[in-house]
Amino acid sequence: LSSRSMFHSRAVIEAGDLVIVYMSRDNLTSIIITPGEEIHNKFGRYAHVDLIGQKFGTKILYLPDISYITMRLGVRVGGNVIEAGTGSGSMTHSLSRTVGPTGQVFSFEYHQPRYEKALEEFKSHGLENVRLQHRNVCKDGFNDASGVEAVFLDLPAPWEAIPHAMKTLRPDIITKICCFSPCLEQVLKTVSTLRSEGFSDIFTQEVLIRTHELVKESDPDHLASISSIVDSLKAHEKRKVERRAVQMKTAREKARRQKENRDGVSSSEHAEPGQKRKLEEDKAEGTPSADIDNEEKQQEQIKGFSVWVEPDTQLKNVVLTKPTPEMKGHTSYLTFASLYPESIRNAIAAQESSKSAVA
Ligand code: SAM
Repeated sequence: LSSRSMFHSRAVIEAGDLVIVYMSRDNLTSIIITPGEEIHNKFGRYAHVDLIGQKFGTKILYLPDISYITMRLGVRVGGNVIEAGTGSGSMTHSLSRTVGPTGQVFSFEYHQPRYEKALEEFKSHGLENVRLQHRNVCKDGFNDASGVEAVFLDLPAPWEAIPHAMKTLRPDIITKICCFSPCLEQVLKTVSTLRSEGFSDIFTQEVLIRTHELVKESDPDHLASISSIVDSLKAHEKRKVERRAVQMKTAREKARRQKENRDGVSSSEHAEPGQKRKLEEDKAEGTPSADIDNEEKQQEQIKGFSVWVEPDTQLKNVVLTKPTPEMKGHTSYLTFASLYPESIRNAIAAQESSKSAVA
């Protein structure tokens, strides 16, 4: 929101604007952008001046996504990685720590004040493995970045930067890319560019926030509900075993009666046609009358029942979590893809064309 833009809309935040800071659906706060002031929350400390020049709707906090992106990109100690744009530098700090002193982060930002601010901050934080460049990567590419294993694009038109990014990637290994986009229209353009540039294993994931509550031992309500679930499972299992025991007993008595009636002759050979059919059906279905030999095994199961409910005693030492039923919000769509070395891409293409020729 902008206090002066109630009637005249403006895209970029300025000093004096009313801004709604959205931490989560249940955690919103409004501030008037005042140079010299700061917002404090559980994510950190943010100077109001850092918001000046950002577009309304910009996301500056997305801690949970960083570790996931880094893991899926396979970023490793000693690796070279590209990031564009730099923005707040939050992702840059994380990538810098991950690749360590033997790796290199190539970071690009085209917005002059943001670039200068990040440059100063990286220097004061000692991020010596980060090389920040002031550059429009969609127009001018990634300059001299090379030997890159992973690329992270967090900018409005990643499809324009993808053809440039390809020139920086290591040709001898499988390299990875991730494009972070808030809406599906951007995802569609990104995916079709990745396809046409020869990327494989393309997939998009929607990142949703869902919180898990810790179930504390001291919370009698939670414990009561969990133990009642265990109790009902135990009761259900016990009823099943008891029903099975009754079925077996009935079947055994029936078989004994049939045997007595037939004066020692095999029941299935001399049974009435209806009875014979029933016995054969029982045999086919594996019902107890055809499977009395299993009785001993079943009895062992009944005896073993007290062993099966053991989890009840273990439960007291376990920390439990319960997911909240509803999603708390959507942070982004993440599109991942891999680029195989050219020789492998050619081999796959040859295999696919021979398959389609046969078909
Ligand atoms: N990943 C960043 C972080 O951790 O804070 C957030 C990036 S922010 C969403 C997008 C940034 O990309 C903005 O700072 C913007 O100025 C920059 N940007 C947009 N298009 C660009 C381009 N073509 N070349 C370089 N930077 C660009």
